[in-house]
Amino acid sequence: MRAEDLTLDGLVSFSRGKLELHGRRLIIHDLYALAQFRRDLIQMVGWEQARRILTRLGFFWGQADAAAMQRLFHWDNVTELLKAGAMLQMLQGVARTELKILRMDEPAGQYWLEFVWHDSGEAEACVSEAGPSEQPSCWKLIGYASGYTSFCLGKSIYFIEQKCRVKGDPLCLAVGKDIDSWGAEISGHLPYFQSADIKGKIIRLSERLKEKELELARERAQLEKALAGPNIFPVEVRNQRFIHILNLASRVAKFDSSVLITGETGVGKEVLARLIHQISTRSEGPFITVNCLAMPETLCESELFGHKAGSFTSASRDQCGLIEEGDGGTVFLDEIGDISPNLQMKLLRVLQEHEILRIGETRPRKVDVRIIAATNRNLEQKVAERTFREDLYYRLKVVSLELPSLRERPEDILPLARHFVHKCAKHLELPLLRLDATCVDYLMEYAWPGNIRELENAIEHAAVLCTDNLILPEHLPSTITKKMTAQISGAQLVKTLSAMENEHIRRVLELTGGHREKTAEILGISVATLYRKLKLLRQEKKSDLPTAQSVFARE
Ligand SMILES: [Zn+2]
Repeated sequence: MRAEDLTLDGLVSFSRGKLELHGRRLIIHDLYALAQFRRDLIQMVGWEQARRILTRLGFFWGQADAAAMQRLFHWDNVTELLKAGAMLQMLQGVARTELKILRMDEPAGQYWLEFVWHDSGEAEACVSEAGPSEQPSCWKLIGYASGYTSFCLGKSIYFIEQKCRVKGDPLCLAVGKDIDSWGAEISGHLPYFQSADIKGKIIRLSERLKEKELELARERAQLEKALAGPNIFPVEVRNQRFIHILNLASRVAKFDSSVLITGETGVGKEVLARLIHQISTRSEGPFITVNCLAMPETLCESELFGHKAGSFTSASRDQCGLIEEGDGGTVFLDEIGDISPNLQMKLLRVLQEHEILRIGETRPRKVDVRIIAATNRNLEQKVAERTFREDLYYRLKVVSLELPSLRERPEDILPLARHFVHKCAKHLELPLLRLDATCVDYLMEYAWPGNIRELENAIEHAAVLCTDNLILPEHLPSTITKKMTAQISGAQLVKTLSAMENEHIRRVLELTGGHREKTAEILGISVATLYRKLKLLRQEKKSDLPTAQSVFARE
């Protein structure tokens, strides 16, 4: 075997997320990430230790490659085996590597090698991260060359990089020799190949990394809050239309414009409103939810706008309204389509003048709120019917977001169901709670008229009823399993009919003593049809038709 015969597809196999070099698992690293890693490493443990760690990493890598090459192939000579290392580096994208000089006096144990690296990835990473340097910086390459050659030659070979692209040289060049051939020159370099003190450093390093991780997690949490995008939604979203709405919502969130969210009951209008609030500049302020449908008009007015003491019989003292309470934050008005004309007018004032008037007061109060309204009604139609103010409608729907129903986003049913299982596991204190796969069809088949809210309730219902922490179809509300169950028993009925036909054929065959012409005649089918049916039965292999067998035996 010669080094030039090595090819990537002959060496490496790709399957199901695994990249293997004849049983050795490999992973592909991003050069930019490695550059960042190197910078962090230098910052954390210092230049000397970082160099040692990376040289050792390269050394192990080279050693592992050499072992694999020796194990897998029969090489023409040791030169080819050494060149194979260069070839591997090239195939792995590390650098275009050439073995330039190889002089060896095996009896004397003296070696002299020279490797040249064109376009060293490591040098590129160094320059991109820290700019040019006075020092040669291809530490991993040096380690690799030493590890590879030492393994092949059975003697410790140490490399020193003489030229490096990081220094501005056109290529990187390293010389490797055994310790005696180097003499005193190598002594300053030896510590980089040795493991002494690395363990302690690594322990300290991992402690610092842990701190860094915590710090990063905190930063990430803050970032996620600030950042727009579907990733901030608490559940995995697969439906493209819903993702689009989340993107719109996150863009809108940064402005103070009113938002009108429409969609059927239970599609998550309040969740979306909360999300907009959380990523808006008002996130530190209050989020107030008002369900306009739940209150009679007079109470609703007092709840929304507040009142002065004595303004009506039960008003014993001054009361601040919910809109005022939302000052500096967001007020979510659910079921806006159902508010009275009087309240519509007052609400318009909030949107236009940014002020409210408490019941019984004459002087308006300034209020700084963002209004997000929601409805499952067709407001446009209500405007046409003159039951909803047109001016208010347009003020509310500066941006309008229409949420799809759950049956319009079937791909999200499972992630949502799992999310609710997880949620129930937490608040019902059933940490092992899980959803059995047999529930999936039921959840997917059902039409979910109550949408996400109904799904959440169904999961909670099942979580409470289930035993052994496992949610099975029988624990789901019967409305969900009813239709499917009917379908299943229907399927059983079809099976029963076909079984009945088989049974009937068997009986007639018995009656005629296995005479197929007579059997066909009694059954009212042709002999050919009987033959076909019997053949099908035989193929099913479960058939226990002794008479039928005898029919075939006679053929
Ligand atoms: Zn270099």
